[in-house]
Amino acid sequence: MAGVMGWPVMHSRSPKIHNYWLGKHGLAGAYMPLAIKSDGLHAALRALPALGFAGCNLTIPHKETAFDIVDRVDPVARRVGAINCVVVAPDGSLEGRNYDGFGYVQSILDAWPEWRADAGPIAVIGAGGAARAVLVSLADQDAKEIRLVNRTPAPAQAVAQEFGPPVKAVAWDHRHAALEGTAMLVNTTSQGMAGQPALDLALDKLPASALVSDIIYIPQETPLLTAARLRGNRTVNGLGMLLHQARPAFHAWFGVMPQVTAELRAMIEATI
Ligand code: NAP
Repeated sequence: MAGVMGWPVMHSRSPKIHNYWLGKHGLAGAYMPLAIKSDGLHAALRALPALGFAGCNLTIPHKETAFDIVDRVDPVARRVGAINCVVVAPDGSLEGRNYDGFGYVQSILDAWPEWRADAGPIAVIGAGGAARAVLVSLADQDAKEIRLVNRTPAPAQAVAQEFGPPVKAVAWDHRHAALEGTAMLVNTTSQGMAGQPALDLALDKLPASALVSDIIYIPQETPLLTAARLRGNRTVNGLGMLLHQARPAFHAWFGVMPQVTAELRAMIEATI
């Protein structure tokens, strides 16, 4: 068994994704939503071995807190500073991993197989938790220059200092100009999500050849992606990131590396 711990959690698409794969691979298991409040996270995680769980995913608000509860974290998760997956080891100890960055890169390659992170400068908007996973994955894909723009200067400066080159902080007031000469633009802010205003970003300076990615998947096409598509840029939304981060987690728990099929994607799209 496996599940996703979050609060709230019933909106999570992860049970649909993992139960689809359990069925596809004929595995006798179940993946369930686990509604865990912050003050119950420690006990809930420590109960996993006794409950017979292979592990769990973590979503809001637990990704950072769980990092300090598990027994070990892998090197990628350590750089991200958060975990989205826990694997129960044979001795009952808990290992934390972060597959959000893996999911991010795979989602881009899935949509545009010829994409390369080192094709030119990349502008990343937002310096929150999801941004850290995206930045680590882009750096590991050999990105040469990442212009990190955040509304509040301090988080972008702190991340740029912590990660070092290729990440450099750019002031929010310079965000429109920061798109000049880029090969890729990534939105990791909450702006453009259902119920939120659009990201305040003018695309005039963005080359027509640039790939525009938004890690939001509700709605499937944010105002940023609509604007980018209408001016001829290639686009990718955040659904692939969600689907692909689930693959290595499923593999770690159940021993099979599953695939993101058109059927799975359509099934999840139908819930959005
Ligand atoms: P977070 O840690 O709270 O970070 C939020 C970011 O949005 C910060 O950079 C924040 O800037 C920025 N922001 C908020 N309001 C803004 C505004 N009015 N104008 C400009 N910037 C603003 O959240 P997170 O966990 O990184 O999540 C961010 C987004 O990623 C969410 O939409 C989430 O759904 C999405 N996400 C998608 C996936 C996926 O699998 N596709 C996975 C994880 C997250 P300040 O520092 O200035 O507040």
